[in-house]
Amino acid sequence: MDLQLKDKVAVITGASKGIGLGIARAFAQEGCHVVMTARTQGEVDAAAMAIEREFHVKAATVASDVSTAEGCEAIITHAAGLGGADIFVSNAGTGSNETVADAPDEKWMDYWNLHVMAAVRLSRRLADQMEKKGGGAMLMNASICAVQPLWYEPIYNVTKAALLMFGKCLSNEMIKRNIRVNTVNPGLIRTGDWVKTARELRGEAWESYLQEVADEHAPIRRFATVEELADFCVFLCSPRASYSVGSAYHVDGGMLKTV
Ligand code: NDP
Repeated sequence: MDLQLKDKVAVITGASKGIGLGIARAFAQEGCHVVMTARTQGEVDAAAMAIEREFHVKAATVASDVSTAEGCEAIITHAAGLGGADIFVSNAGTGSNETVADAPDEKWMDYWNLHVMAAVRLSRRLADQMEKKGGGAMLMNASICAVQPLWYEPIYNVTKAALLMFGKCLSNEMIKRNIRVNTVNPGLIRTGDWVKTARELRGEAWESYLQEVADEHAPIRRFATVEELADFCVFLCSPRASYSVGSAYHVDGGMLKTV
């Protein structure tokens, strides 16, 4: 299937590693140029260089904190310099660990800024660039936790639920400008962060920890690879998914317990 993405410009936040990097690679494989962002300059630069070498597309980088207005502004300016974005994937984010009783206000605000305000600020301005090019697509990377919470991370669950609702509200506005907005809710995706946690808990036997997590939560009894999720995301952002608007798609190996 030709995804019709050649020479489009895709902006992906949190693209130096994990899911964001997988999505950037999957876009590049389709001939799409990518703007990759993360806070750590060295890591995002190295990831972009590898993509340019492998796929012969332009891979620009922005080192900024998307939980701040200035960090978002830097990305918007950069994308404009490349002729404007056609696609935006709001991916940067991270898990949390707290109880509602103990977590301070500042922690709530930090996660609100990272998971919600980054998407608000970036989509608002990147939409202007997309409209000038005739339209585009946006994808919010929320989580299965947006609808089915994990007990140890209430702040993560709540802010991801807010992102899911933001995606829906945004889609209603944006489709009038020929910009499609959707959300993806991944389940267990095997990224470096999961492996790090597993190593901390089990040392050399870290794989057994991941298997236990998968057995407990996902009927498919395994984690997804980053590529399994990334391919789905790239399809959703492509013109081949032209009738998908304002939807939330679970990529979770059956982890969602409701219909
Ligand atoms: P990783 O920790 O592997 O990667 C996170 C990326 O985001 C890195 O590039 C990181 O770079 C960047 N990032 C983090 N904070 C900021 C910030 N404030 N500003 C800019 N960039 C930032 O995470 P995953 O790939 O596992 O997760 C990616 C997204 O997918 C997250 O939103 C997560 O909630 C969601 N998700 C993940 C699942 C999983 O099982 N892995 C399941 C469901 C959802 P740097 O630190 O240099 O800034």
